[in-house]
Amino acid sequence: MQFDGLGQLKPNGPEAWYQRRSENFTRTCPFSYGAANENEIAAERYADTAQKNAELGRFQNAYVGHVAENNFRTLGSSGGMVSWVAAELMRKGLIDGVAHVVAENDPQTNNRYFHYTISRSETEILAGAKSRYYPIELSGVLDLIRNTPGRYAVVGIPCFIKAVHLLRREDPLFRERIPFTLGLFCGHMKSARFVESFAWQMDVPSAEIERVDYRYKHPDRPANLYNAMLTLRDGRVVNKDWWHLADGDWGAGFFMNHACNFCDDVVAETADISFGDAWVEPYSSDGRGTNVAVVRSLLIEELIQKAIAEKRLHLESVSGEFVAQTQAAGFRQRREGLAYRLTWASGRSKTKKRVAPDSQSPTPQRKLIYRTRYYISLWSNRIFSYARKVKKPSVYLNWARTVAAVYHGLAYHQGKFSEIKKRYIQLKG
Ligand SMILES: Cc1cc2nc3c(=O)[nH]c(=O)nc-3n(C[C@H](O)[C@H](O)[C@H](O)COP(=O)(O)OP(=O)(O)OC[C@H]3O[C@@H](n4cnc5c(N)ncnc54)[C@H](O)[C@@H]3O)c2cc1C
Repeated sequence: MQFDGLGQLKPNGPEAWYQRRSENFTRTCPFSYGAANENEIAAERYADTAQKNAELGRFQNAYVGHVAENNFRTLGSSGGMVSWVAAELMRKGLIDGVAHVVAENDPQTNNRYFHYTISRSETEILAGAKSRYYPIELSGVLDLIRNTPGRYAVVGIPCFIKAVHLLRREDPLFRERIPFTLGLFCGHMKSARFVESFAWQMDVPSAEIERVDYRYKHPDRPANLYNAMLTLRDGRVVNKDWWHLADGDWGAGFFMNHACNFCDDVVAETADISFGDAWVEPYSSDGRGTNVAVVRSLLIEELIQKAIAEKRLHLESVSGEFVAQTQAAGFRQRREGLAYRLTWASGRSKTKKRVAPDSQSPTPQRKLIYRTRYYISLWSNRIFSYARKVKKPSVYLNWARTVAAVYHGLAYHQGKFSEIKKRYIQLKG
């Protein structure tokens, strides 16, 4: 897997390798026509769960809250639950290591900021905490798992967790060595160019970036006002609110990977437990971070119940509908929006989804939003690449500001956008 000119990871090999079509590959690629879908995988793995709904799939229990013990919450992007579950599985001797995404030590030499690795202690797990909206890939860590006997948990976004299950179905070695999967809810994946765009907008050379924090945590500011922070090689630190970035509105879809246009899984429906942010009040105003978690594994449910009783976790049981509500925008994009894109978007004929094509249900305004988002994703990748080539950031930034304004006009009217703006002005005041 190598970065292409748009900052997306792509397979790279000799021509003959691309021409080879194997049935095995068809069955293991999460976006392929021939692969089992999320419902089928979940039915095999979670036949005994108590609940099921259209948004979350099968699940045993759902929670809102955060980790109460140690510094999991402080170090996590949200409530610290992903790192806690990984650490608890290790403490209980149920796994030997966790495959998750950590920062690259020497990003400028290695030409990437993050990669998958295996952590084998609580300290290592915590060092890898936080969300990375950056292209990563599993091949190296799967090789490590193949070559190093032991039991591992894999942390990943929904398509990665699905890929792991498809691999487990094909290969008994992975079935035995990966007993647990920890899923992250996912809105979409960004390209590597998002970091370069941060650098342009913070007025620093991207060749000097040493560390990237997409969501620097300010406990006294609302959790949903993201702040991006870059640490440079000379120790300098710069930061900016996403609110002030031309491409900082997550919903507008800047730098989105094209495959995300065809994803229908928001909450990692095939994972033993999946985690997101509680994007509803009062939680989204709490800068310390609050998780929602959807539990499917009965064993993990037992660990969680015990830790709640011991006051190591501060979690309340909630309904599936509550969790779905925290991800309302994600579900619109990946259900109604996907059904609409399946009637016109390029690449639609190469995939098979759980929602049927439908151009009738969305209102004309929603159709315009889905179209605008689609074109922002497509053209942000291309225009950034051109601006980078001609070394003129303003070509991209002026374009981005213009299309973001169009998108805001369409998507928010007097709704969410003006509410966030009002809160931001209050904060500054
Ligand atoms: C691309 C992406 C999109 C997301 N979209 C949404 C969304 O729309 N809605 C929502 O509620 N939540 C979303 N999340 C999840 C959210 O950002 C938090 O990761 C989640 O709430 C867990 O927070 P935490 O404090 O429990 O995790 P932490 O304790 O901070 O641990 C996070 C764990 O995830 C691992 N990790 C980080 N980035 C990646 C990655 N790219 N791939 C695999 N593992 C990774 C880390 O190594 C760490 O082990 C997204 C995450 C990603 C990476």
